[in-house]
Amino acid sequence: MQIPMATTRSCSNQTVTALDSALAVIELAPDGTILFVNGNFVSLAGYPQNDLVGENHRMLCTGEYILSGEYDEHWGRLRKGAEPPGLHTVLRKDGTARWVECAYHTVMSPSGQAERIICFCMDVTASVEAKKQKEMQLGALDRSSIIAEYSVDGDFLSINENFMITLCCSFNEIAGLDIFSSIFLDYFDLHEFRKSWLDITSGQIFTNLAKWKTADGSPIWLDSVFTAIFSEDGKPARIIQFSTDVTLRVASEEPENIKAQKLSMAAAALGVGLVLLDNSGKAFYINKCFTELFGYQGGDILGKSLTFIFDQSEKNTLCRMRETIKSGLPFKFESMILAKNGQRRWASLAYNPVARQNGGLEYTACAVSDITDIKLQGILQHRALEGLARNVPAEEILNVICREVERIITVQYVAVVGLDQQSRTYNFSSPKLPCRALELDGTKIGPNSTPAGRAIYHENLLIEDDIASGPSDQKIKDVFAAIGVQAFLARPIKSSSGKITGAVTFNYSMPCASYEYHAHIADIVAKICSFSFEREESKTAMQKLTFFDQTTGLPNHAFLLAEAEHRLNSATVDIGEKGLAVLYVNLGRFGRVNQSCGFKAGNELLRSVAKRLSQLKRQDDLLGRVAADEFVFILPNCRAGKAKKYADRVREALSKPFTVDSRQVTIGVTIGISLYPQHGKKLEKLVNHAHLTCARARKDAKNRVMVFSADMDEDASNDLFLESCLHKAISVGSLELYYQPQIYLKSGRLHGVEALCRWRDDELGCVPPSRFIPMAEETGLIEPLSHWVLQEACRQLKDWRKRHVPVPAVAVNYSSPSFRDPQLPSTIMRCLQEHGLKPSDLIIELTESVLLDEDPLALETVNKIHTLGFVLSLDDFGTGYSSLSYLHRLPISEIKLDQIFVKDIQKNGVSRRISQAVARIAESLDLRVLAEGIETEEQCRLLQKQRYDVVQGHLVSKPVRANDLETWMAARN
Ligand code: C2E
Ligand code: MG
Ligand code: MG
Repeated sequence: MQIPMATTRSCSNQTVTALDSALAVIELAPDGTILFVNGNFVSLAGYPQNDLVGENHRMLCTGEYILSGEYDEHWGRLRKGAEPPGLHTVLRKDGTARWVECAYHTVMSPSGQAERIICFCMDVTASVEAKKQKEMQLGALDRSSIIAEYSVDGDFLSINENFMITLCCSFNEIAGLDIFSSIFLDYFDLHEFRKSWLDITSGQIFTNLAKWKTADGSPIWLDSVFTAIFSEDGKPARIIQFSTDVTLRVASEEPENIKAQKLSMAAAALGVGLVLLDNSGKAFYINKCFTELFGYQGGDILGKSLTFIFDQSEKNTLCRMRETIKSGLPFKFESMILAKNGQRRWASLAYNPVARQNGGLEYTACAVSDITDIKLQGILQHRALEGLARNVPAEEILNVICREVERIITVQYVAVVGLDQQSRTYNFSSPKLPCRALELDGTKIGPNSTPAGRAIYHENLLIEDDIASGPSDQKIKDVFAAIGVQAFLARPIKSSSGKITGAVTFNYSMPCASYEYHAHIADIVAKICSFSFEREESKTAMQKLTFFDQTTGLPNHAFLLAEAEHRLNSATVDIGEKGLAVLYVNLGRFGRVNQSCGFKAGNELLRSVAKRLSQLKRQDDLLGRVAADEFVFILPNCRAGKAKKYADRVREALSKPFTVDSRQVTIGVTIGISLYPQHGKKLEKLVNHAHLTCARARKDAKNRVMVFSADMDEDASNDLFLESCLHKAISVGSLELYYQPQIYLKSGRLHGVEALCRWRDDELGCVPPSRFIPMAEETGLIEPLSHWVLQEACRQLKDWRKRHVPVPAVAVNYSSPSFRDPQLPSTIMRCLQEHGLKPSDLIIELTESVLLDEDPLALETVNKIHTLGFVLSLDDFGTGYSSLSYLHRLPISEIKLDQIFVKDIQKNGVSRRISQAVARIAESLDLRVLAEGIETEEQCRLLQKQRYDVVQGHLVSKPVRANDLETWMAARN
């Protein structure tokens, strides 16, 4: 504020009057006594004039100010006439303070002493408060938003702390960069964003919700506002960005149609057709892939049931499908379906019901893949093999195949044409071709030959829409016209040595719309023909296709068994005398090599493994590849001791690193052994038992060799039975939750209750969690089980809240594999919200083993859950991962000492010291520490001494049903 500093004496009277009416004026003696106040000052201070005049100026200041020393300095300057204008407060009579802008004039005596001090004040409280308010708002904005300041060209000028934390970078790392070249905009359409930037600099406010990338590469969703700040000359000076991190919201609020879109994208990426069906089974969505595969457009399918694409004979299957879907379970089957162009295609169909959040069917997603090729190849190969096995002549085999093709595709005649030594063609197999066609036998191949003769001559696929207008000799054209064949497809048959030995021919009465597809089928047939032709000379080549694994060249499962049976039966080996062993070899970590280095590298690894294994083989031993990463040795003349030694040699041979894709890779090996005759008299059984043993060895400890024992067989079938019962129990909701109270040692108050799952089965009786939880973890049933537990615990807590039963929180156990699901945080959050609960109502119990999870996602998920505000409790502490340093890696709020330490805390000094150490660790990390399994007063006393916060155990209460817990609580009050 500019206040005229001239003395009143040199002003005109009007000026004085004007000042007097505009400003509050106070006149003071040098000792602070108030000599005069004008009317404005009276209203400013809220005192009557008489209460002011004669009093000391101190009454208008806060005690704090007077005592601060600043007050005396202020007066020192006033007396010298040297106090510049400034902002001060005036303490009013009612105790409130007003902000005033003051200007002073000190009247000096001729001797240079201060006589009077006149102070002109203006009440600026409103603007100071407004400024403070603005500052507070800016502070709040700074604390809650991600803020960045850019030059007009987009160079980073500054970023706030939230920006650094959220986008994982310091300002130094981005100084000198501009937003367009920074890594953060990874997911932006940069071109669009640059255009928007121009709009921002011209004064438009730009908002967007977009995916960014943090400096360490994680995707993040920001809801942002960009706005320009203009300098006084009206030019844009800076651009400010305010953003909020909405990653979690975006993840949890993802609308259904986006989900469907994603589903569709995923399906498209896999080349799978997708049809979504409403509750009445009518299609309401089909993806592009479905149209591409089967030719149907939206108009052909939408609003209709899919029944019309199936054959009548599938009626029963479709009924079963509908029933299964209705009960909420998926249904998979293979069927021939009718494509739009009338062709029949083999399809694999997977109907998956999608449930509403509150139960009931929302819609059904039907994934349809075209498996015609695989199926056709399978059928044709099967037919060929069948023929070969029965030693049927090649001609007959090919007749069967021609008929099979005619059954599957729309073609008039399928025929196989052979080629003799003189380059003349003849009909080798042509089951339906009219006799008249045989007139063409003996035609020489050449540019004017039959279509087949020309295809062979040019060594190329030949497709002719109209034979009559093609280059064939007239005689040939006449024959085709006579048998009603207008169009033709011919695929030369090439032998394994590259020699052309004939052609597969498709004869059409009119041009066909699917030559490409038919050419593909002709390819398959041509391959079979090639083998059939060469059967006599190249029997082995045929076997390679059928009986040998294509990657490693080793016998496949079927051939390995057949060959072994054959040898045993032909008595070349006497197993009765000398025994026989089966070694089932499983490669650990093979899946990971496949995933991280690709299938090619995976195949390379398999070939190297097969090579090393083959080198171990003795003359009579058999080795085969029976599954992706599983090999089997059948070892005649081999008893237990020798078999184990053999297994050790196998492990040793595979223990040295492999070079794959120029990287060094090591693999783990597990081997199961079964022996003849004690573990089975039939080879198939022996292989099964060795397989089972191998699976068991993998479970117990990796990289082990194990010999079959009879109880494994029993265990395996028990496990299967148990699994199917648990599956049922989860789906019909026959599990139950018991609750065990956790109480504060000091106050006896309830800390929370732990939800523990109980399963009582009609047939199996009570199955303890120690039996069914590990099994659920292994079989993947843990996911639906945990979901049920969460739903039920939330439902119960909601009910308690409604009835004012004071349960502070429910602790729910989560197994480590559950954290691999990145959706877990949003699933938990959604469930809470559905029940009107908050994150602080739930305690998530997890165990140390989550740290051992190879999947880095697991820890990320744990962190996300923490970020959402859930209490994470580390269960069974002390039994798992033995390093304490990891505690920093988990965002936990409490530790639960495992009950084994509590059990013998009285007798065992080690346990006591451990429990003591755990309490101290918890204390130093500021974590709550709980002890579980407290059964005696003595244990409780010791834990109290060790300063445990909370206890849980039978001494307080066993886990009980919800209503019994209420009774327990009521009895305590
Ligand atoms: P936990 O989470 O450590 O649960 C504590 C276990 O100690 C419970 O066994 C409880 O009944 C038992 N317990 C409590 N107080 C005492 C006591 O004073 N003395 C003795 N001897 N035992 C006591 P429970 O119910 O058999 O559960 C065993 C484990 O199964 C649990 O250990 C937990 O890891 C798992 N589990 C139980 N329910 C679920 C569930 O819903 N989901 C998952 N993922 N795991 C669960
Ligand atoms: Mg627990
Ligand atoms: Mg525990």
